[in-house]
Amino acid sequence: MDNCIFCKIASGEIPSNTLYEDESFRVILDNGPATKGHALVLPKEHYANLFEIPDDVLAGAVKVAKKVSLTMKEKLACDGLNLVQNNGETAGQTVMHFHLHIIPRYEGDGQHILWKPTSPSAEELAQIRDVITGA
Ligand code: 5GP
Ligand code: ZN
Repeated sequence: MDNCIFCKIASGEIPSNTLYEDESFRVILDNGPATKGHALVLPKEHYANLFEIPDDVLAGAVKVAKKVSLTMKEKLACDGLNLVQNNGETAGQTVMHFHLHIIPRYEGDGQHILWKPTSPSAEELAQIRDVITGA
């Protein structure tokens, strides 16, 4: 895709701090990291989001994320780790090229990747279940 910053980074046209690379993926350090080591798994092919990425490429991205996460656990001694993946502006996606965030977490890092729980009734839960499953 012309004019996609992550296509250019993934292909190597734009230099990046690369942690891992293979035929299909490049893992780079995020340049606005939430924590030390925050990285992005980029497929080399352009897919805008979860809805567009083929299953096999998605599976490959998750495998790569696990590999890099295990290395981070060892090398950074993080206390935890979040995998985050945003789809659409409403969900916080700012770069429209599929990417998986790997965010190492450290005690007291002050970051919040959680949501505010709500309290739907049993009926409301059942209703949304039926809408999704088509029951
Ligand atoms: P999103 O909000 O789309 O899920 O995440 C986009 C991420 O890409 C952000 O965390 C942002 O800091 C990062 N980012 C945006 N542009 C660049 C760039 O040119 N280089 C790098 N390394 N990261 C970028
Ligand atoms: Zn792209």
